[in-house]
Amino acid sequence: MLTCKQQVARSSDYLDGQLSFRERLLVRHHLMFCPNCRRFIKQMRLMSATLKKLPEPLPTDLEQTVERMMRERSR
Ligand SMILES: [Zn+2]
Repeated sequence: MLTCKQQVARSSDYLDGQLSFRERLLVRHHLMFCPNCRRFIKQMRLMSATLKKLPEPLPTDLEQTVERMMRERSR
């Protein structure tokens, strides 16, 4: 089983679909047993979905904008 650190190192590749079948299974397996990493992956997924929706050019208050969008989504 992966450690949380190994899991985190793979998470962006996991979300991008860049992992091999075997690695993906390892990540899934870890996520099944680790609520912390599940939450982390969920946040990363939300974050990347949110970033894709941002208008161009990027606002200067990017962080606040992302935070606001994430807050609105979680309602
Ligand atoms: Zn974990």
